Amino acid sequence: MNLLHSNDRLGEYPPSLYADTRDPLRGFPALQGDVSADVVVIGAGYTGLSAALHLAEAGRRVVVLEAHRVGFGASGRNGGQLGSGQRLEVDDLEKMAGVDVSHRLWDLAEEAKRLTRQLAARANVPITNGIAHAFRTPEEFDHAMDMIERLSRDYGYHEIEALAGDGFKAILPSDAYIAGELDHGAGHVHPLNLAIGMARLADGAGARIYELSEVTGIDHAQQASGKTIVTTGQGRVRCDHLILAANGYLGELEPKVAARVMPINNFIVATEPLGDRATEVLTRNIGVHDTKFVVNYWRLDAEGRLIFGGGENVSYRFPNDIAAKVRKPLLQIYPGLADVKFTHAWGGTLAITMNRMPCFIRPAPNCLSASGYSGHGLALATLAGKLMAQAVEGQADGFDAMAALPCPPFPGGAMLRWPMLVAGMSWYSLRDRLGI
Ligand SMILES: Cc1cc2nc3c(=O)[nH]c(=O)nc-3n(C[C@H](O)[C@H](O)[C@H](O)COP(=O)(O)OP(=O)(O)OC[C@H]3O[C@@H](n4cnc5c(N)ncnc54)[C@H](O)[C@@H]3O)c2cc1C
Repeated sequence: MNLLHSNDRLGEYPPSLYADTRDPLRGFPALQGDVSADVVVIGAGYTGLSAALHLAEAGRRVVVLEAHRVGFGASGRNGGQLGSGQRLEVDDLEKMAGVDVSHRLWDLAEEAKRLTRQLAARANVPITNGIAHAFRTPEEFDHAMDMIERLSRDYGYHEIEALAGDGFKAILPSDAYIAGELDHGAGHVHPLNLAIGMARLADGAGARIYELSEVTGIDHAQQASGKTIVTTGQGRVRCDHLILAANGYLGELEPKVAARVMPINNFIVATEPLGDRATEVLTRNIGVHDTKFVVNYWRLDAEGRLIFGGGENVSYRFPNDIAAKVRKPLLQIYPGLADVKFTHAWGGTLAITMNRMPCFIRPAPNCLSASGYSGHGLALATLAGKLMAQAVEGQADGFDAMAALPCPPFPGGAMLRWPMLVAGMSWYSLRDRLGI
């Protein structure tokens, strides 16, 4: 079984609202025969496209190999939330890596948002400001107050507004939450159009993008001066540098990464346009996510459709009825929407790590890999691509700062990680259901 093929048709986007509302993009050919390049990038999501764009702009001959289509993976299917910071909060980062490293990580995350906004602006993809975090208990709200103060005092970030009780309910009229916060420095975007926009920029800068070109083998250079050979179904590329940007779809292509980065599936639905009822969901044009371990996240699009993500599984297969899986958490938050029809339901595969921080690693000489953004990759994957491009250019400070973070293998390695995770997740989703 291979996640690249087990839930999707070859070369087709999933049946998502995003695919139906995407910007046009010319198709790219499949790789045929032997070619050479300075750098090969495997995967055309945010990580790979950003790497390709920055390398092409630096004058490198870049080949991007994508098994399906540009933005086929998580980058074309996600919740579209451009979040602040890293996946872990600064108090946890300070404990894990120390105060100085935590500051550096915060700054990199701010740089990631800036970069994503710049690329989106260059590609004419609008980003709307405002992401709320919805809290279920007074303890969660108290913790958020501490974090808001700490970010403002120690990290110079003043964009988060606390919204207690009625103030929050005026924006998000649901009894599921008691309070919230609104990050005015975060935002939301059409995720597939962002990937398509990055592909257009990379193509325009001279990167050679190949679609329908699944990489089936890598023969790594044994030393820094050697060549790496990358093989697809119908072609081969000889290159000086290799960038792995396949994230949750990597499979066993690179065992060192596979042992540390685990695929996990997450699901989204879109409703018919809600018309006047849109204000039953949100009264402002913001994205929202909550505090559940199996997180719920949602926003309205310009036509007033609710795009709601919730529910995940750890398996090669998506559930048969994705809509039914997502309807459950949606109705817990908005019971009044029981009669609303879904027009789309789709799944995507992301990747997580043991400590929920991305895994930056050099699996072989002249090979760089970044993945495992743990559900917080929209901006960070975009930055990761740039950091890998800079590392190829000999400026590895940013890459090395991320690679210095611990990235332990999952217990049991690539073989046993799924059963262990299923056990762990069942426990946490039980906690969600019990409200503890
Ligand atoms: C449902 C869902 C909701 C999410 N919501 C959010 C959110 O709101 N905010 C946020 O920050 N993050 C979110 N994420 C995570 C975010 O989407 C990812 O972190 C990010 O898109 C990762 O980008 P990437 O380029 O590394 O990987 P991907 O976009 O997955 O790209 C990897 C590409 O590699 C290709 N590939 C794999 N193997 C091969 C091979 N052998 N040969 C050739 N090509 C190959 C795949 O086809 C794919 O196109 C979500 C993810 C999912 C699935």
